[in-house]
Amino acid sequence: MNKVSETAQKIKSRLPETVPFYRTPVTVQILLLRQTHDYAVFRTEETRELNIAVTPASISDPTQVTRVVFLASKQKAPESREFAATIKYYFNTHGIDLTTLNVNWDLTKEKKKGKFQPDFNQLRSSILECELKDRLCRACPRCSLFGAVETGNKGIWEKRWNIKHRIEYSSAFSLEPYEELSENLTFNAVAETTQSTGQALNVTENVVPLANFPSIVTLVSPTWEELVLVIKNLLKCKSYGAESRTKGDTVNYIMGLVVGNEEIITSLEYTLELSDKKSVDLETTKQ
Ligand SMILES: [Zn+2]
Repeated sequence: MNKVSETAQKIKSRLPETVPFYRTPVTVQILLLRQTHDYAVFRTEETRELNIAVTPASISDPTQVTRVVFLASKQKAPESREFAATIKYYFNTHGIDLTTLNVNWDLTKEKKKGKFQPDFNQLRSSILECELKDRLCRACPRCSLFGAVETGNKGIWEKRWNIKHRIEYSSAFSLEPYEELSENLTFNAVAETTQSTGQALNVTENVVPLANFPSIVTLVSPTWEELVLVIKNLLKCKSYGAESRTKGDTVNYIMGLVVGNEEIITSLEYTLELSDKKSVDLETTKQ
C-alpha cells in the first residue's frame, strides 16, 4: 500500500461507517488556505466595506495587526449551494434506487401508526427539489451535513423533526495585514443611449488578488464518504462574496487534516501559528 492510501485507511478506520443518529465525538478538521485569484468583496451589506479585526501579529508576538475577516457565513453559503448542486447532479445521472437503502423508516413515523413506507417517487422529487430555506428535503447528504430545520411544511415525512448540522465554519483572518489587501475600486453603469456614466459612480472596497486566508472547516462524526464529498466540494467551489458573477474567484488549497475527539485548533490560532513561521515542516507535525 502506498503512503497516501495508508493514511487514508488510517483516517477511514476512525470514522463512523454510516451516518450516525447521534453525534459522536469524532471530529475532522480540514485545514485550508483560501486564496483570492481576483478582486473580491466578501460582504453583501450596503456599505461594501471590508470586515476587519485587530489581532496579535502572531502566536508569540502581541503587537497589534489589523486583518481582513472572511466571515464564516460568507464561506458557508456558496459551499452549501455548490454541495447541493453536486448531490442533485449525481443523484439524477446515476438514478440512485432509493428502495434499496438500508433505512429505519419507522423513526420518522407518528407513534401508534403501522409501518411507515415513504412514497419513493415523492421522496425522489423532494430530494431533487431540496432548497434553502423552506423546502429542505431532510433526506439528502446536504441536509444531513449542513442541517435542516422543518419550517411548517412536513414534506413527505409524518413527523416534525430537525437535523442538527455536522459541518462547522468559522471566520478566517487574512495572513497579510489589512493595509496590504484593501483596494478601492470604482464602478459605474454606462447608459446605452448617451454612452455616458452620469454621476452614479460607486466605490467598493475590495480584497486584492493573492490574499491568503487560513481557514478551517470542521466535520462532526462524518463518514468517509461525507469527508470525501466535502473535500471535493471545497476544491470545486470558486465563487465567493458579493458580485460573484464578475469577481470573487477564490481557490481553496487543502493543507492538512486533523482527526481527533474534539476540535484541536481554531481558525484564528491557525493564522497566528502560520504568521509565526517562515516555513512549516509538515513531516514534523505528523503523528
Ligand atoms: Zn436535502
